[in-house]
Amino acid sequence: MDFGFTDEQKILRQTFKKFCEKELTREYVAWMDENCDFIPDELYKKLADLGLFGMIIPEEYGGSGMTFTDYMIAMEELSTASVAAGICAGLAVSFGAKVIGGMGNEEQRRFHLPKMAAGETKYCLALTEPGGGTDIINAMKTTAVKKGDNYVLNGQKVFISGGNVADYMLVVALTDPKAAKRTKAMSVFVVDAKTPGITVNLIKKVCIHACGTTEIFFEDVVVPAENMLGVENNGWNKLVDVLNPERIGTAMLSLGIAKAAYQAAHEYSLERYAFGKPIGSFMVLQHYLADMLIEIENATNLIYKCCYLMENGLPYHMEAAMAKIVAGRASEIAAIKGMEILGGYGVCMEYDLQRHFRDYKQMVFSPISDEMAKNMIAQWTGLPKSY
Ligand SMILES: Cc1cc2nc3c(=O)[nH]c(=O)nc-3n(C[C@H](O)[C@H](O)[C@H](O)COP(=O)(O)OP(=O)(O)OC[C@H]3O[C@@H](n4cnc5c(N)ncnc54)[C@H](O)[C@@H]3O)c2cc1C
Repeated sequence: MDFGFTDEQKILRQTFKKFCEKELTREYVAWMDENCDFIPDELYKKLADLGLFGMIIPEEYGGSGMTFTDYMIAMEELSTASVAAGICAGLAVSFGAKVIGGMGNEEQRRFHLPKMAAGETKYCLALTEPGGGTDIINAMKTTAVKKGDNYVLNGQKVFISGGNVADYMLVVALTDPKAAKRTKAMSVFVVDAKTPGITVNLIKKVCIHACGTTEIFFEDVVVPAENMLGVENNGWNKLVDVLNPERIGTAMLSLGIAKAAYQAAHEYSLERYAFGKPIGSFMVLQHYLADMLIEIENATNLIYKCCYLMENGLPYHMEAAMAKIVAGRASEIAAIKGMEILGGYGVCMEYDLQRHFRDYKQMVFSPISDEMAKNMIAQWTGLPKSY
């Protein structure tokens, strides 16, 4: 067994660490949280120049063809500095590069991937609808009806991250609403966000302000048939396939929150005095910090194990679902115990802990709720499907 990273990976981590120290200072991250509904274009461009968006895109499409582990190392540093920046980057890589790279034809890949790698285009994935996210297969109402060389989209999506800035929307819609199996009823389209008939509204939320969440309305939106990704009516099965790594990416975002909350609480525990000594000398607070580290270590190991399994062509769906839950729990424990350690200052906007406390909440139910992830883990062990 080898738990180590290669020398190149250590250098990669240092590069991203240094970038974050310079570009994502505490003050800047707090400013983004208060003032932005997506990371500023300037920062987006700098991340593109650093090569983040093209890391897992093959060289022939303008990327650098690195491994998923490499990408996760970069995301670990970025998400610890700012989970909002981590999600904004994840939209390009997990949704854009993975979905178009995995489902698109040669022409679609040649058109989109180089621009995405260069940070010139932004993407969102529009799957969830107001009728329900967990049971989206049955809740979906958005339709795409074939008319000549086009499809006409009608419907509504909700909770779509980055819909406010996306140049292209990856929209999942019913192309055969009467299909005997709902999994054979859907197709995926790349939709130019400027197409007439699209309305995007920001949803106010308590968490991760610098990556906006939106509702999107489609009213007689005409999409050229060649913008379909993959095969008609087989969009769901293929999408689930290419989105598998997203659970690992989501776990990494949670790990970032956990590490940031831990670091802030650890630092404070040495600075704050009570009864003549730093509060970090009280055993109960030491246990809080130890609890956080245990969860962080667990999540880290599971995430990188998923990377190992994936890169070696081994099944990783079970571990990816577990990683999503374990890292989410790490962020929850770190945020809640961190708030305890900060005492009254925990709830003050001037301190970062309140942001981690708000942000971790987003990770518990997205892109899949912990309850549903556990349903699936149990099902994969051979138990009857519970839903
Ligand atoms: C900030 C944010 C960003 C998001 N970004 C995106 C995005 O970019 N693109 C996108 O398409 N979607 C996005 N989502 C949607 C997200 O994937 C859904 O919120 C998620 O799938 C849950 O769906 P829901 O909110 O409708 O909850 P529901 O499906 O209504 O679930 C409500 C509760 O019921 C539980 N539940 C449901 N079924 C079962 C069952 N069988 N067993 C046990 N418990 C069950 C759930 O676990 C949950 O606790 C985002 C959501 C948020 C809030």
